[in-house]
Amino acid sequence: MIKKLLLALILTTPFSVAFATTFYVAVNGNDANPGTKNSPFATIQHAQDAVKPGDTVYLRGGVYRMSESQIARKERINACVTYLDKSGKPGAYINYFAYPGEKPTFDYQDVKPADFRVIAFMVYGSYIHLKGLDVIGIQVTIKTHTQSECFENHGDNNIYEQLTMHDGMAIGFYLLSGSNNLILNCDAYRNWDYFSENGKGGNTDGFGCHPRPGSKGNVFKGDRAWFNSDDGYDCINSHESVTFDHCWAMYNGFGTDFQSLGDGNGFKGGGFARRPANEIPNPVPQHTIQFCLSVRNKASGFYANHHINGNFWYNNTAYRNANNFNMLNRLLNDPAADVPGYSHKMRNNLGYKGGRELTNLDNSKCDLANNYFDLGLTATDNDFMSLDESLIVGPRQKDGSLPDTNFMKLRPGSQFVDKGADIGFPFTGKAPDLGCFELGGKYAY
Ligand code: CA
Ligand code: CA
Repeated sequence: MIKKLLLALILTTPFSVAFATTFYVAVNGNDANPGTKNSPFATIQHAQDAVKPGDTVYLRGGVYRMSESQIARKERINACVTYLDKSGKPGAYINYFAYPGEKPTFDYQDVKPADFRVIAFMVYGSYIHLKGLDVIGIQVTIKTHTQSECFENHGDNNIYEQLTMHDGMAIGFYLLSGSNNLILNCDAYRNWDYFSENGKGGNTDGFGCHPRPGSKGNVFKGDRAWFNSDDGYDCINSHESVTFDHCWAMYNGFGTDFQSLGDGNGFKGGGFARRPANEIPNPVPQHTIQFCLSVRNKASGFYANHHINGNFWYNNTAYRNANNFNMLNRLLNDPAADVPGYSHKMRNNLGYKGGRELTNLDNSKCDLANNYFDLGLTATDNDFMSLDESLIVGPRQKDGSLPDTNFMKLRPGSQFVDKGADIGFPFTGKAPDLGCFELGGKYAY
């Protein structure tokens, strides 16, 4: 898929890109330099002034220890350290890429502006491709209800690829507006705001997507979220549909000693808390969660979060969550009225060893078929090639895609092989299997 995507980019690249310029940023650089390989810039912020659509900025490896003096802009409550507001064009993205084979780490432990949220990268531009940046150590300085963020998006058609966002107090990736953005092969882990409110980190999700009206077509693929103090993926208060495809969530809601912190859902599919009916979008968006894996999250692996419509839940695998599948909805006109899930479409889902397997589902009001609970099938260890959880937080493949391991892949002869419904995705054998891994098939996205 990634190869196809790159090929498509090459084929749609206009000739003007033949004159594209390459700039360099390095730890020992200087913004008074011309930005060449031998005489690099010091900051991405300065590189942005130099680029035009189609240009590439290579970020050399090493640790960039960021300082408060580098804050590009303070707006409202946000201190934006790097502020990307220059756009590329279709077929001529502005690229900010890790230099091949090197790891540029941006460390924010010294950036503590009093009474501001820290946003490491605020992105208002469009047609921007960020790849291979490692973001660590983001701080929270506000004691009351707040959050900091590694990346906040408002532009359109951006690609966030192979970003690692970890060991800080911030949300990893956060979207409030913008359409057709792709968040691809990113990892958010060990993020916990222990400073604000009650120190439980109840806002620190791995990935948050809360699009405003008209911000459509945002897709998460191949991402992982683990040990974030709140949820792995959260799309509460979304006015448009969001897609989570081939993403993994593990151990969210826990600190690394498995101490209890925030909400702790793997995938939180929508919801509007207790907002009154006149604040709810019409129609209420339906989110898609497919081919995702959710393991040992504190609360629910897959959670409808009091949503006011059904979601599409296809071929997901849940393991050892307190609640593997929790489809809780609420009523539009009575914000206090939680009801068993309605209007959900669920196919080919698989769960094992949940504290509870399935809760809050009104079967008569949903479109259900070929899920393990419909079929009355109970898994055993023998259904799976491996249940070794260390495999899923291991290194990614060379092209950045998810690790190819035996974790929760079905054994030949498993009762879940060929028990699924054909819903239009590729499969091997007579029919699709249950869960996110198809026996003999590729976990491709
Ligand atoms: Ca959350
Ligand atoms: Ca099959």
